Amino acid sequence: MSDILVIGAGGVGAVVTHKLAEDPSTFDKITLASRTVSKCESIAARVKSMHGKTVDTAEIDADNVAATSALIERVKPKMVINVALPYQDLNIMDACLNTGVHYLDTANYEPRDEAKFEYKWQWAYQERFEKAGLMALLGSGFDPGMTNVFCAYAQKNLFDTIDTIDILDCNGGDHGHPFATNFNPEINIREITQKGKYWEEGKWIEIPAMSEMQVFDFPEVGERDAYLLYHEELESLVLNIKGLKKIRFWMTFGQEYLTHLRVLQNVGMTRIDEVDYFGTPVSPIKFLQKLLPDPASLGKNYKGKTSIGCLIAGEKDGKKLRKFIYNVADHEVAYKETGAQAVSYTTGVPAVTGARMMCKGIWSGAGVFNMEQLDPDPFMNDIGQRGLPWHVQDR
Ligand code: NDP
Repeated sequence: MSDILVIGAGGVGAVVTHKLAEDPSTFDKITLASRTVSKCESIAARVKSMHGKTVDTAEIDADNVAATSALIERVKPKMVINVALPYQDLNIMDACLNTGVHYLDTANYEPRDEAKFEYKWQWAYQERFEKAGLMALLGSGFDPGMTNVFCAYAQKNLFDTIDTIDILDCNGGDHGHPFATNFNPEINIREITQKGKYWEEGKWIEIPAMSEMQVFDFPEVGERDAYLLYHEELESLVLNIKGLKKIRFWMTFGQEYLTHLRVLQNVGMTRIDEVDYFGTPVSPIKFLQKLLPDPASLGKNYKGKTSIGCLIAGEKDGKKLRKFIYNVADHEVAYKETGAQAVSYTTGVPAVTGARMMCKGIWSGAGVFNMEQLDPDPFMNDIGQRGLPWHVQDR
């Protein structure tokens, strides 16, 4: 049995903590640490009432490597699950190296002053983790995460060669607010307002944001408008899925959401850089975040489903095939179980599945890994029972 330190007590942190507590044969002592300790305490109280399990809590500013290293020294976990924000990734990786524990996250490191969505900073830790004999598992959420594993599973079990991958992400749910983001608003808006980008025949092709759309029929949700975006898992999948010719990522948005976003952009409210507000420097997107609903609070009235998968085309035994591997998750079911909505749920469950793979030694190795570099079969066998059943359709 393994002790775990979770850093970050937002929507995803709530799901991770509940899911760790649901598996006492793998996970022993759970410590939840975050910048605001009261958030940890309310999650711990819910876990105690639902599962009878005590979760230790701690206050930590994970931007401070020395303090984070001291916390890890005190807790002595087998690994750290980082579900704080992407800005903390490198600091928490440094703290893991200082203290000799394994690392897992769900989002790539982001510099604060520019939206990049690139792995280069974390891949640069390869040698240090390798030398220390430690494992860092990157992007063990849904997308990235489960989508990478779907691609690896298709490569291993369903196709001889893969030509194209389209990752399609639909949140068909309704939270009842005119405008809100399903995870951290700053990270979410940075992701959506950057240029669209996809990869074809060895080249990255950039297009204006939200300039390409297709209507896709999502299982259990129906037809929705899906827009081409750049998403971080494309960067590692082009390296690890052999013979790939084209890969794109699509996300659905309703007209109401897009209209709000366009207005916010046009008036400058999505700017990352600081503007002078009567002598006080203010980042408009950070200010906007203060005004928008906290994603962790959306769960209560959320209805509907997420439907996310990989549409993969290629050949098997000389025949051309197209398969859609996907999961559907229900917001109300997720909320009842974990107190969080399905976007947090679909992120937290793969994080805990990845942690189980590492704690049990099913996935092991020294260095920095993206999900598709590891054997997909044990992960796929485990995650259905853990809350995210998956299916394969011929398309
Ligand atoms: P939230 O904003 O709800 O939660 C983030 C938490 O991190 C908050 O509790 C916050 O604390 C804490 N935090 C922020 N800065 C620090 C710090 N310096 N030290 C310690 N704690 C800190 O985000 P989510 O739970 O929605 O998302 C968590 C992560 O999951 C993000 O990195 C996000 O990008 C990723 N994600 C990945 C997805 C995937 O599919 N791969 C999908 C969705 C999210 P406080 O509130 O007290 O300030």
